[in-house]
Formats: sequence, structure tokens, C-alpha cells
Amino acid sequence: MTVFHLSAECYPVAKVGGLGDVVGALPKYLVQKGVDAKVVLPFYDKKFTQTHTFETVYNGQSNLGNRGFNFEVLKETSNVLGFELYLIKIPGLIDRPDVYCYPDEIEQFIAYQISVLEWVIAQQIKVDVFHCHDHHSGLVPFLVNFSSRFDSLRNTPTVLTIHNAQYQGWFGWDKFYYLPQVDASKTGLLDWAGCINSLATAVKCCTVYTTVSPGYLEELKINSNNLEHLFEMESYKGLGIINGIDTDVWDTKTDTMIPHNYTITTQKKGKEANKKDLCAQFGLDDSKPLITFIGRLVLEKGADILPQVFSSCLEQFKGQVSFLVLGSGEKYIEEALAAIPKSENFNVFIGYDEQLSHRIYAAADFILMPSRVEPCGLNQLYALKYGTIPVVRSTGGLKDTVIDFEEEEEGYGIRFQNTNNEDVSHAIQRAITLYTNTKKTAALRKKAMGLNFSWAQSASQYIQLYNRLKTTI
Ligand code: ADP
Repeated sequence: MTVFHLSAECYPVAKVGGLGDVVGALPKYLVQKGVDAKVVLPFYDKKFTQTHTFETVYNGQSNLGNRGFNFEVLKETSNVLGFELYLIKIPGLIDRPDVYCYPDEIEQFIAYQISVLEWVIAQQIKVDVFHCHDHHSGLVPFLVNFSSRFDSLRNTPTVLTIHNAQYQGWFGWDKFYYLPQVDASKTGLLDWAGCINSLATAVKCCTVYTTVSPGYLEELKINSNNLEHLFEMESYKGLGIINGIDTDVWDTKTDTMIPHNYTITTQKKGKEANKKDLCAQFGLDDSKPLITFIGRLVLEKGADILPQVFSSCLEQFKGQVSFLVLGSGEKYIEEALAAIPKSENFNVFIGYDEQLSHRIYAAADFILMPSRVEPCGLNQLYALKYGTIPVVRSTGGLKDTVIDFEEEEEGYGIRFQNTNNEDVSHAIQRAITLYTNTKKTAALRKKAMGLNFSWAQSASQYIQLYNRLKTTI
């Protein structure tokens, strides 16, 4: 069975957040289980593309309205990722360093999607399932079914996985003419609230949509940036599959990005050694519980409340706790965090640093996630695997994966209800108290490290889904 994964991100080629982690891992696990999973990304001028070898497998030509463009399909030659990787390169449009935020992003993603389909029909590639990730490939389920240009692909099953419904790929009807000829009676499927909405189109036109946790599947009906009604109507074809961890990348025993490797049995020594190194680098007191935040500094993650939370906790729990933040995002949050005086109890690194994130997961005692929205959340899964106890808001995937140690006997984390200073400070207080009980802390760490959030399990659920789609067409 051949499955084409279409995505804007794929670790280690290009990663901004969890989408990159998932698309870098799931296809590998699918291949191991016998699925011919391929990933097709836009081309990025990044370290990975500069240091790997590619061959051109197709040269094509297409149009965005009346503007013609040439595109190239490049295949990575060594299969280093454990699956076939293809990149769509369009000179002057899709050949730049960053993944997002160009002013012509809409043109980029439409041209990317058209190119993928043009290539597939030109080479008559047999695709059993198009698996689209987020809105960047959200027009594919529509084009496959309702564009005469791609008639030969009609009825090919399409799966949409929603990693984040906050971003929807909106654009005005004035850009409708970018699309190849489509069935005029179906154009309403492109519309949501008066503009073309790529994510809404995908939800309407895909065969099945999945969310990255069962909790998020339900939450979308209540909170999905104006798509609540749509998710209510289409829920009959929704399915929640929790993300996994790529243990080739995230394993305390083999991780080459951390200075001191460790296992469940050596966790005490291992984490202490990693903490010592990290605290020395950031001038932090390593004898105190180290609480970290890693992630995008945006409202979704509740990062806007962090400056106030840290300032008040540094006052309230003076000298009893240390905080280290790694993140980037909204300027006003970056500035507010940077304005907190550095001390042996507080430091912040503004930026994106993959290796530092691994070192922090290995060194920290707790990870704080006050997210307002968390479709799955990978940070808490990596933290658990690295023996770092998650302190999370009870929402979406966090609710599905973290059990409070005082609420249930099998618990291993700390949960709180609201993204506000009071609830978060109280949770931090609970973490500080827990840390003083070294026996209990060690027991929870071991329990956390022993949990199984592997991709193997979740990949099987995707395979069941693909098989179901194949037999129903
Ligand atoms: P989201 O995709 O919403 O940002 P996830 O929890 O699903 O959140 O995934 C976040 C991923 O990005 C994790 O692998 C996390 O370690 C990584 N990450 C986020 N911010 C940074 C950063 N500043 N530096 C390094 N890694 C980061």
C-alpha cells in the first residue's frame, strides 16, 4: 500500500514544532510495518538539503492562474530517514530557508499542492492514500475529487490529520483563480465564513480526518477558531489517534545530544549529572528543583502568563526553585521574559535550539505546560521519557497523557485546571513540595520513564485506518 504524506514540516529536514516531529517519525514506523509511506515536502534551503544528495525524478510545468511556473521533484538518494523523501522545488517561490511567514505563503502552498498532483498524474504513480497534514495540503482532498485536471485521481482516499486547527490557510476569493479548473457546483466546499479556508475544505472533502489525540477530537467541537460547527457536523468521520515518540531520536540511553546518558536504573545519577552541567552553563542553583518551559511563546501555549507567574513565584518561593525557559515567538512575551532579572533561580534562552531542548529534558526536574490549547503535546511525552515530571493544564492531549499523582494511584504528573497565575503557582508549589520527598520523586520518575508512548502502537492504528479506506472504495 502506497501512502503519500503531504506536509510543510518533517524532522530533521524542517521542523518548527510537533508537526515536524510527527511527519519525521510516523512514516518510518509505517514503513517498518510494511506500508510504502513516502513524504513529499516543499523544498527548503536548510542544512539538511545542503548536506544531503538528491536526484531529480521529475521536471514539470504548471500554473497559478495565468502565471506559469516550472517545478522539480527531488528525491533524497540515501533513504536516510527510513522512508522515501521527495521535495517540490519551484525557483523563486519554493526554494527559501524558512518554513512559514512569507508574504506569498498562500501562493507557495497552492503551488506545492498543484505540483504534487501534477507529478503523480504525469508519472501515473499509484497512490492508495493521500495523507494530508494540517492546512498546508488541505486543498488536495478537494482537488482530487472535484478538479477535472486530476480526474485520474478521483476517489483516491484522503486522510487529513489535524495537528493544529488554529491555523487554517485562509485566503480571499480573489485568489480562487489560482486553482486549476474545478467543478463549479462544488466551489461552496471551499468556503467558510466568506473566504477560502484550506483546513475547512479539507475537513469537508477528506474521507476521514484524524486528530493527534482523542481529547482534541472532542475539543474541536467547542474550541477550534470558528470551525466548531463544522467539526460538529463532520464528526462522524473523525478519529483521535495519539502521537508517539520516535525512540531513535528520544532515548536517554542513546541520545547523542545529551552529555550524560542514563536509564531507569541510573536515572538519579544521570539526571543529576545533566542538571549540574546545564545549571553551570545558565548560572542556576542545581540544588533546587529545576522547572522548565520549552516551546513556542504564544497564547496557545499560555506563554503570555509566564512572566507574571515566574516573577511572583520567585518572590513567593524565594530560593526554593529555579526556572529555565527555552522558546521563541511573540515579541512582547520574549521581551517580558528577558526583562526578568537573571539570577541563580531564573534564566531564559530566547531562540530555537534542538540540542539544548534535549539537554533540558534530561536535566530538568519538572516541565511546565500551561497551554490553553494542546492538540497532543509532545513536550510532556519527551519529558516523561526523560524522567522529567510534567506539570500541565488539564486540556486536549495533556489530559489524555498525564495523570495526576495525587488523584490516581497510577499517576505520575501534576495537573491543574486553568491558565492563570493562581492555578499555575499552586501547581508549582506542589512540585516544590514533591521534590522535597526524594523517595516519591524517584518513584514517579521511574514510573514516567517506564511508560510506553511509542509510535509502534499509534502507527498500527493508522494502518487499520488505511486498510479500512482501501476496502471501502
Ligand atoms: P507545537 O507543535 O504546538 O509547537 P508540540 O508539543 O507538539 O507543540 O511540539 C513541540 C516540539 O518543538 C517539541 O519537539 C519541542 O521540543 C520543540 N520545540 C519547541 N520550541 C523549541 C525551541 N525553542 N527550541 C527547541 N525545540 C523546541
